[in-house]
Amino acid sequence: MKLSIVAPVYNEEAVITDFHYNLLMPAISTLKGTKSYEVVYVNDGSSDKSLEILQQLTQHDKHIKVVSLSRNFGKELALTAGIAEATGDAILTIDTDGQQPPRYIQQFVDRWLAGADVVVGVRDHYQKHGLVARLGSSLFYFLINILGAKTVPGSTDFRLISKEVQAEFLKLTEHRRITRGIIDWLGFKQDHLYFTYENRLAGKPSYNFKKLFGLAINSFISMSPTPLYIFGWLGCAITLLSGLFGLFILIEQFAMSDPMGLNFTGATCLGIFTAFLIGLVLISQAITALYISHIHTESLGRPLYVVDKKNSRNLK
Ligand code: UDP
Ligand code: MG
Repeated sequence: MKLSIVAPVYNEEAVITDFHYNLLMPAISTLKGTKSYEVVYVNDGSSDKSLEILQQLTQHDKHIKVVSLSRNFGKELALTAGIAEATGDAILTIDTDGQQPPRYIQQFVDRWLAGADVVVGVRDHYQKHGLVARLGSSLFYFLINILGAKTVPGSTDFRLISKEVQAEFLKLTEHRRITRGIIDWLGFKQDHLYFTYENRLAGKPSYNFKKLFGLAINSFISMSPTPLYIFGWLGCAITLLSGLFGLFILIEQFAMSDPMGLNFTGATCLGIFTAFLIGLVLISQAITALYISHIHTESLGRPLYVVDKKNSRNLK
């Protein structure tokens, strides 16, 4: 049994050595249940000394591989590059800043040995995050679960996948990807491991609010077209209500000469008519959205289904 550790690195010169020797290696050297290992560091176009430090690490240890990307592609693609390079029976992805503590690796491995194909690390508390971050993250999980994802709040990309899941993962070619979203989509037997999120060893996080917001938008869009439909339903409601109200005015005021004495003005009629038209525009937009969402699904080019070969029998 071989374990691959995949760790993305972007401008982490302040932490790599500490992470590697003081956190990762102690965890790996005491690991039970695996025979060999490799560490795949992915340099995601760092502009500091990260790459040199990583290359130096490989001189002392043949277990270490370095994949160096030509520029900064973002963590999601850096992870993908690392997963593609991994040759283990199980692949564990982990941040290099120490926030996802390597001391949990044994537990990930144990869950995998017990039969899980995917072991998802879940943050068990948010104390160390600010109020805005906590609210934002709660809102994100609330919305994404409404949209139909089955994501446990606090799920991270500190996770282990089996090589079967790796093989299926690598078949997916979409560009704007959220690695953990894809892994969730693939299915297989998932297990959740709660861990305590640590403070950064040193350095600064490179994900700021703007990047996180973009990531959240990407997740929503790749998840489902529901946000587009919401406006369609709004349009239906507006059209229906203003249509009924307009009809009422027509009958009450014009056909029956205002028996209730309501005295609708021209401005009211105009307002109702405008609302009716706005409703129609929203509906027609939603219909366009339907077509776009079909094109979107097709263009992702995901496989129609994924077969779990391990649990299937006597296939051709
Ligand atoms: N990272 C990366 N490419 C990027 C940004 C970040 O490979 O463009 C790596 C980074 O080196 C770290 C991990 O992704 O190992 C998490 O990044 P960070 O700590 O900045 O974000 P957090 O998720 O902790 O807010
Ligand atoms: Mg971090």
